[in-house]
Amino acid sequence: MRLFSLPTPEARGLGMTSQRARDRLVERLRAEGIRDPRVLEVIGRLPRHLFVEEALASRAYEDTALPIGRGQTISQPWVVARMTEAVLEHKLPERVLEIGTGSGYQAAVLAALVKNVYTVERIEELLRNARRRFRKLGIDNIRSRHDDGRLGWPEHAPFDAILLTAAGETVAASLFDQLAPDGVLVGPVGAPGAQRLLRYRHDGKAWVGETLGAVSFVPLLGGLG
Ligand code: SAH
Repeated sequence: MRLFSLPTPEARGLGMTSQRARDRLVERLRAEGIRDPRVLEVIGRLPRHLFVEEALASRAYEDTALPIGRGQTISQPWVVARMTEAVLEHKLPERVLEIGTGSGYQAAVLAALVKNVYTVERIEELLRNARRRFRKLGIDNIRSRHDDGRLGWPEHAPFDAILLTAAGETVAASLFDQLAPDGVLVGPVGAPGAQRLLRYRHDGKAWVGETLGAVSFVPLLGGLG
């Protein structure tokens, strides 16, 4: 398990004042069925308020998605926790690919738990902000790329796990091609209003999806923004 340092006095100060808010969020996630102590520990220590604009910082420890600009959102903490748990449940992955960096929060949660995180974002401005946050928090095991994440990141494949944080109607075959044979892919699939969180694993014959619940994510879009 990695421990982040909070290098600037500013970050340290904010981190301390929000510790109680983080503790309350962890209690709430536990009450709502999140069990993995590793996931709860990371959420209890990662300063989510640094992943949203200052004007929204006071709401950062509510269990809700918040706007991060360009029509996108930082995922709800419960969703981040459930997806992370769904990935770890199988076995501890070493190499994880995330599609949809957004604020960088989900990537930062993963980076505290696994060796190497790769993340792809189609909107350059969001990616720049996320990279700035990783630097500020001293997180050095995330590699990020500005690209259409539906193509994955073949140069770094195979991945032990792939996480989609935006919803498509289907999962592109090229992503399964980049997954290790015993890997796991977790993400929302379906049309707006009818999305389900799925976890795919290979049963020896094909990739089989298991439904983890109903969710609401922003859409997976084509091209670059
Ligand atoms: N994991 C993020 C959630 C951000 S919302 C967080 O923790 O904050 C989903 C993100 O997916 C948005 O930033 C959106 O721009 C991005 N996205 C949508 N389609 C994409 C695509 N084809 N490739 C890469 N990123 C994409």
